[in-house]
Amino acid sequence: MSLERVCYDCGRRTDAPVARCDCGEPLWLATGDDSFDWDDVADGPGLGRYGALLPVDAEALDGLATAAGDTPLVRAPELDEFAGARVHVKAEGQQPTGSFKDRGSALGLAAVGEGAAGDVGAVGTVSHGNMAMSTAAFAAAAGVPCTVLVPADIPAERLGIIAQYDPTLLRVDGDYGRLYERSLDLGPDRGVAFLNSDAPLRVEGQKTTAVEVCEAFAPDVPDAAVVPVSSGGHASGAWKALRELRAAGAIDEVPPLYLVQAAACAPIAEAFADGRDEVTPVDGGDTVAYSIANADPPSGTRALRAARDTGGAVLAVDDDAIHDAQRALATAAGLSVESSSATALAAVRRLAEDGDLTASDDVVAVATGTGLKATAGSASVPTVGIDELDERLTDAGERTA
Ligand SMILES: *Cc1c(COP(=O)(O)O)cnc(C)c1O
Ligand SMILES: [Zn+2]
Repeated sequence: MSLERVCYDCGRRTDAPVARCDCGEPLWLATGDDSFDWDDVADGPGLGRYGALLPVDAEALDGLATAAGDTPLVRAPELDEFAGARVHVKAEGQQPTGSFKDRGSALGLAAVGEGAAGDVGAVGTVSHGNMAMSTAAFAAAAGVPCTVLVPADIPAERLGIIAQYDPTLLRVDGDYGRLYERSLDLGPDRGVAFLNSDAPLRVEGQKTTAVEVCEAFAPDVPDAAVVPVSSGGHASGAWKALRELRAAGAIDEVPPLYLVQAAACAPIAEAFADGRDEVTPVDGGDTVAYSIANADPPSGTRALRAARDTGGAVLAVDDDAIHDAQRALATAAGLSVESSSATALAAVRRLAEDGDLTASDDVVAVATGTGLKATAGSASVPTVGIDELDERLTDAGERTA
């Protein structure tokens, strides 16, 4: 199979296993089957259903990959009033390691297993959270050695979740953006395929979020889709999927893709607001949405283009709005999502307030990761004596009445 790469921006093509074009923009794979039809979706579990749109054989997507993807699209009318639109939550938290990163990891490991990633005997990633967990888990399942480079200041509980899959783990002191670049320089020499956030194979796997959403609405499309964005890898996958489905005639139109960032660290949203064509690094501040706080996003400019090209926008929401949305998802819909993922619902609400969406619009909020593995801060929970239980249980019943 050809793993030819192409630049979305200048159109240059290469067979070399490089991540970036000479123009500086990230490359993606020159896949895309113009003859794709929804009838080509295979029966069966997991990512292999979309083999016709992916650069590996469906049979290679076996084992843990059969548990990746195919997440529920939950129609959540309980959230309509909060959001101001008809809310559909794409529940990515339901994957083996609890985030959409499993789509890219599954595809990446399948490609390595097929020998499609070149002469590599190991995989790696640079991550401080979900991608590290995901890559380590899929490498473990495939029996492929895995190196995970994490920033030195990673919280202990996240390190513990990554470590359970037993990758080679290294804490690296130094600039995170440079670490991403260094890993791409070193990987080919060392025989390690770095499946970083916007690696071409990862982007292919991450196309499938949008493919599943489109399949659920086909032949129509939702009125809008909202995706939290950090490196721009997932947004790139969504955009690529929409282009390929449109080119094949599987969808009649491309829905607007709205991307959302946390206001404290919003390089892509700032570029959008300023009408710039290029995303430049910012001095990112702290936010509860740590999974989307990349101040120097490697696929930022591509994500910006995705939002503009589809008629969407890039928004920034502050931590209060994120908290409110996270709380609404849990208390009204019973959905526990990461704060980074709650930005999607906060963005729907903002778009409705601004008149960009109406109450009758069907909007997909991509809840990128589960809240169940995050320590969501401290809850103040009273302790009562067993003999007081009688009384306290009655109180609790009244509180919720
Ligand atoms: C990685 C991640 C994102 C951001 O995705 P990018 O591809 O880096 O833009 C959003 N939400 C969660 C939960 C993530 O783990
Ligand atoms: Zn280029």
